[in-house]
Amino acid sequence: TIAVTGATGHLGRLAIDHLLARGVPADGIVAVGRSAEKLAVVAEQTGVRTAVADFGDPSSLDAAFAGADSVVFVSGSEVGRREAQHANVIAAVQRSGAARVVYTSAPSATDTALILAPDHAFTERALAESGVPAIVLRNGWYHENYAGSFAQASASGVYTASTGEGRVSSAARSDYAEAIAAVLTSEGHEGAVYELSGDTAWDGAGFAAAASEALGREIVFSSVTPEEHLALLTAAGLDEGTAGFVVALDGNIRDGLLGHTPGTLSKLIGHPTQPLVDYFRTLASNES
Ligand code: NDP
Repeated sequence: TIAVTGATGHLGRLAIDHLLARGVPADGIVAVGRSAEKLAVVAEQTGVRTAVADFGDPSSLDAAFAGADSVVFVSGSEVGRREAQHANVIAAVQRSGAARVVYTSAPSATDTALILAPDHAFTERALAESGVPAIVLRNGWYHENYAGSFAQASASGVYTASTGEGRVSSAARSDYAEAIAAVLTSEGHEGAVYELSGDTAWDGAGFAAAASEALGREIVFSSVTPEEHLALLTAAGLDEGTAGFVVALDGNIRDGLLGHTPGTLSKLIGHPTQPLVDYFRTLASNES
């Protein structure tokens, strides 16, 4: 069986859909999450089995991974607590005797200044030390990270960022989730580290052009300095920590850390990745 952590979240849930679409039987999948209530919804919608487990509770992980050939390890969402949690997950995978683990990491995780990378670098190292055959999917940015920016641009006519001329090779979550299913339904991926991204990268002007096209009216790009950005975000009510985080990520983009386009994701899934403008079209149609 294939155990999928984060199954109550966006990416894990989509991975289950893609595994089913690629012919994995529902009773060969165990959706793993920490909320029994949310898991019941997943079971009802997909027919898969479920197991309640928390990354902080090793024995719950042992029970969830029992009998699994493969574990899909979707990185946790509690930044700041992930090292200990991820170490627990890897130890449990090791104890389970699973033949492989698929981990969702970050671009160039072990060799990048990306502010979110250290947890992923730690996890990749722990995976290597565990000796469990691993398939590392270094996911680039999600289109979905920009839902809020799109709504704001739609309301105000302006997309504001301190990304300078930096580019973002984002892709839809569903495309990254399909890559999880692809590496588990074809042979020979153990040991691989795949850098995944959208096929093309856009900059601030590209964001505004795609938003304009999707909305049928003009959105302009306002390029601001990091200091201006921080001031705008705190004036809009963001706390300092969150505003600083947003500005730091824009800095990472300005430095080119999220703009790589190796084309590996579309190769793995067998079709082009969803263009940003198509994602914006779905947002625009939900708005109207
Ligand atoms: P979600 O927040 O939708 O899902 C995260 C999942 O992890 C949920 O199922 C959540 O469970 C589960 N989880 C978190 N902490 C624990 C824990 N302690 N024990 C057990 N399960 C836990 O995120 P996405 O699906 O959108 O993204 C998947 C992962 O990708 C994120 O967790 C994050 O690491 C990373 N990410 C990547 C981004 C990118 O652009 N590449 C952007 C954002 C995140 P519950 O439902 O109970 O909360």
